[in-house]
Amino acid sequence: MTRPEILAPAGDFTCLQAALDSGADAVYFGLGTLNMRARSGINFKVEDLSEIRRRCDEKGVKAYLALNAIAFEGELDPIEKLIVAAKPYVDAFIVADWGVIGLCRKHGCTVHVSTQMSTSNSAAVEFLKSQGVERVVLARECTLEEVAEIIEKTGMEIETFVHGAQCVAESGRCLMSHEAFGKSACRGECRQPCRRRFLVQAVDLYEDDEGRPIHQSDTRFIVEPHTVLSARDLCSLGFVDKLMAAGIASFKIEGRARNAEYVKTTVECYRRAVEAVLAGRYTPELVEELTREVKKVFHREFGPGMYYGRPGHDQFADSEDSLATTVKRHVGIVIDYFTKAGIAQVKIQDHPLKVGDLVQIHGQTTGVKEFTVTELKRDGETPAVAEKGTWVTLPAPRCRVGDKVFYIETRN
Ligand code: SF4
Repeated sequence: MTRPEILAPAGDFTCLQAALDSGADAVYFGLGTLNMRARSGINFKVEDLSEIRRRCDEKGVKAYLALNAIAFEGELDPIEKLIVAAKPYVDAFIVADWGVIGLCRKHGCTVHVSTQMSTSNSAAVEFLKSQGVERVVLARECTLEEVAEIIEKTGMEIETFVHGAQCVAESGRCLMSHEAFGKSACRGECRQPCRRRFLVQAVDLYEDDEGRPIHQSDTRFIVEPHTVLSARDLCSLGFVDKLMAAGIASFKIEGRARNAEYVKTTVECYRRAVEAVLAGRYTPELVEELTREVKKVFHREFGPGMYYGRPGHDQFADSEDSLATTVKRHVGIVIDYFTKAGIAQVKIQDHPLKVGDLVQIHGQTTGVKEFTVTELKRDGETPAVAEKGTWVTLPAPRCRVGDKVFYIETRN
């Protein structure tokens, strides 16, 4: 069994560093507005490309640029310029438009076809291969059996999603957000109306005995019992061995709009699962442990996606909110770091700190560092609690001035 690539989302430098430090083999990211997370405001800029490349090279990690929004006529020139500018820094372009595939091929770039193209059979994969495409991210509607069959028939490098949010309109092309807000999901601007609860309201008029309308009905029903359009999040930790046996080359984690602790935790969990399968240590106990771990960060109810068949009503999320079992509270910022001693000086701006607290330090270069507070000091004293408005020093992993410090609270 070969070791699949673990492909992590990177929405900003903190997430990128978290992915690199957590064992990702590759990262994907967007630039500007021509990708499926255009609205999130967390995309990189062209000027960031050399730094992204430098950090990836340091860890031997591949970098893929998502260029997968619908492309309109007037955008072909900027897209081509972007391809030329990014080519020296990225290993592949993730593309969903034939014209953009053509432009990538024109400039000798490696093309990965995005799931937005809804490729769901071996004939389509063969055709894409004949057009010079080197990898296909299959449609999320494919079952595991179909994925295995496609790989066997085509020998193509196949990437599939293993974790994260899923659309009720699975592989994209959803017009709901455009209809509701004029913001198109196909242009990376989705406002996620599907995640809401809905109300059904009668709009007819009641009639009096003579058949004349007398007032508008105020009959309303909340559509229950779940959020009828919000699909459960995908979690594959329980069948990583089956995904590997199917020959999937790349395990993609969804979530370029997610925070850095989500990236760190999901990458670590899938890394551990993959290594356990290879070492013959993949047990139900490990799956349980990793699932508990991954539940600490943002998620809705989990499900197996479509790997085991088309889902029924039980695969809709029951809640609108994240079910993360941990929540981070802002403590303050790092105002100094003494490298030799491994001591950080922290200004407490919000949540107080005490010995035994689990904390995370987030920073663009630091990524995400998690540790337990073992000691607090201030002016030769050891305060039991560092309160808001004070400062304190504590032993901490390497971090930088300006990094943010968070207290990690466990929720039931
Ligand atoms: S509205 Fe919901 S289903 Fe449609 S693209 Fe957005 S997240 Fe996906």
